[in-house]
Amino acid sequence: MKKYIVNGTLIDGTGRPAQKLAWMEMDGGRISAIAAGEQAPPLPPGASVTIDAAGKTVMPGLTDAHCHISYGVARGIEEQDLFGSPEYRAIRGVYHARKVLQSGVTSFSDPGGSWYVGVAVRDAIKGGLFPGPRISAAARYLSNHAALTDYFPSWVGSPRSGVGAMTETASQMLAEVRDQVKNGVDFIKIAASGESATLTPGGGSVPAFRADELKLIVDEAHRLGRRVTAHARAGQSVSDCIEAGIDWIQHADFMDQACADRLADAGIPCCPALTFVANVAEWGHIAGCSQGRIDRFRRDLDLAVKNLEYGWRNGVTMMCGTDSGFAVTPYGEWHARELELFVSHLGMSPLQAITCGTRNAAFTVDPENLGTLEVGKFADLLVIDGDPLQDIRILQDSRRLCAVILGGEMTDMTPTPEMHRWPWERSLAISERELYRETVASASVTRAAAA
Ligand SMILES: [Zn+2]
Repeated sequence: MKKYIVNGTLIDGTGRPAQKLAWMEMDGGRISAIAAGEQAPPLPPGASVTIDAAGKTVMPGLTDAHCHISYGVARGIEEQDLFGSPEYRAIRGVYHARKVLQSGVTSFSDPGGSWYVGVAVRDAIKGGLFPGPRISAAARYLSNHAALTDYFPSWVGSPRSGVGAMTETASQMLAEVRDQVKNGVDFIKIAASGESATLTPGGGSVPAFRADELKLIVDEAHRLGRRVTAHARAGQSVSDCIEAGIDWIQHADFMDQACADRLADAGIPCCPALTFVANVAEWGHIAGCSQGRIDRFRRDLDLAVKNLEYGWRNGVTMMCGTDSGFAVTPYGEWHARELELFVSHLGMSPLQAITCGTRNAAFTVDPENLGTLEVGKFADLLVIDGDPLQDIRILQDSRRLCAVILGGEMTDMTPTPEMHRWPWERSLAISERELYRETVASASVTRAAAA
């Protein structure tokens, strides 16, 4: 049966200015007609109105281009890599995915995690077992001993449960890509840069793979019909990824201007995931981060903003992603913060930021079918009480979220019950205090007070 949303203001996600919405027709989970603007035709006779959005904003559901569903609100590397079986992580993942959907995120891209948890969560939701967003999933990052994800000393080794797959030789790289494709990934994630105090004097981000190795991985993934993204912070690793033909870049926050120009020329989009960095800088103390770490992230944020603002102003396509899955970025809480940061830190207009969080970010999931409200696309949309073009922060306020519609169906907004963590999920180094609950509660309280 056809459904109709009438009235309100339409932001369609294409970057076009907002228009007055007369009505939008949804049929079979997709948008079948839109009547907007002053000259819009009248509502078809006998149409059953599902939502009257008078005084409200109708816009595409958000896409989070960077959400790790297997991490489970990790407070540290041990919690991310060691604790929790694959079975438990997958069940926990569907629990968290529902929270993500209820916060207005109708699709997300999972750029890597342990085992095939992201793939399993994707399939469980797609198969109708649980409610959740549409998901595009990678598996373990292709990594090496110079890269992010090789966290533990050599005498410990890389755990099977870790988020990185050590691929030191060309044959290991090829084998890992093939295994991941066999097991159903949508795309491949490479840990193209790493942070290591031992590799560069004074620490910093280093290019972890050789340019020819990156090219080998990207070529093999493309040959098998999969796209590739990379964690690449240092300028050299970003340049090498561009040369290798990467499909999109994560972070790129330490790239210089020449590198940003090359990224723009190549037309490769960038997901900075500033939310994670900004949240450590601002909220790290309630998630158990040391002062030294908080100070470092504050310096990182300043540098990132300088580099990324240059990139954006000079033609790099930006996508919103949050690095949700850590204690500073719990699921369902911060997915719209990146839009705010693009406005406050990169100098975008709210409309430009919304385009980054809808059409641009949907590139990482399913650009053919998602990201904008146009005829033929999935009817994935939000009805917001208020005008995000006046104040982009209202997208973070759950009280303003009147409806989350996924494939033409209203999402059940009954609050997800609070999750308890088991002792075996916790890092041994962290005290018995319920830091997880504290993190969520404090962040919510502080944000409510600020609103
Ligand atoms: Zn990440």
